[in-house]
Amino acid sequence: MAALSLRKIEKTYPNGFKAVHGVDLEVRDGEFMVFVGPSGCAKSTLLRMIAGLERITGGDLHIGGQRVNDLPPKQRGIAMVFQNYALYPHMKVAENLSFGLKLAGTPKAEVQQRVQEAARLLEMEHLLDRYPKQLSGGQAQRVAVGRAIVKKPGVFLFDEPLSNLDAKLRASMRVRLTDLHRTLREQGRGATAVYVTHDQVEAMTMGERICVLKDGVIQQVDTPTALYDRP
Ligand code: ADP
Ligand code: ADP
Repeated sequence: MAALSLRKIEKTYPNGFKAVHGVDLEVRDGEFMVFVGPSGCAKSTLLRMIAGLERITGGDLHIGGQRVNDLPPKQRGIAMVFQNYALYPHMKVAENLSFGLKLAGTPKAEVQQRVQEAARLLEMEHLLDRYPKQLSGGQAQRVAVGRAIVKKPGVFLFDEPLSNLDAKLRASMRVRLTDLHRTLREQGRGATAVYVTHDQVEAMTMGERICVLKDGVIQQVDTPTALYDRP
């Protein structure tokens, strides 16, 4: 079954600008899909519509078989990782990881178990007592990913998550995120990912399939190998 299905999705902004023109796309359960394209091609508009952060003005969006056009973000079974990390500065890492779960009324023992698991998966057990300002950029991004993992979402949404890191760290985080995705998938967890980037290397190394966008239209959707052979 498709984890994510976009049917004739459109976006017209309130000022009348049409940013997305009838996008059709199915993302398979467990698949790592990358949206790539130059600035302004509507990558983040599409991602934000999937996340429920931007209103869909045409077409149907299904997540896990359910039509979610009118559902708020919390009810979509998604978790989003932002470029700017979006950590709470006054909370320690452990609290940053647990805050959303506590708000949702998750039992304390389960919160603890999920925080520990995320910390282990991201090798950041030693960071749990730190405040965000005591973290390097790469560490902060790991916490941001951890905060998505503890939610156990069906679909992970990544919005240029590595753009603020230097080239060396970006390269190691690419590998780390790819490995993490495989690990979650092998555990039989919902591990569908939609990953937005303007970076071709990131797209080619991380995507199982790549959706190439231009001016709010899909140009091609294919595996990295197929795209490389037929650019
Ligand atoms: P990308 O993420 O690929 O850089 P965006 O999704 O941010 O592209 O933007 C796609 C297009 O929609 C651009 O032409 C952008 O200027 C336009 N756009 C984005 N946000 C708004 C808005 N709030 N109102 C009007 N136009 C917008
Ligand atoms: P509390 O539930 O006591 O308010 P926090 O919000 O500080 O805890 O932390 C959330 C979860 O992370 C807790 O359930 C706790 O078990 C775990 N945790 C907190 N600090 C650490 C730490 N230094 N090492 C391992 N686990 C921690």
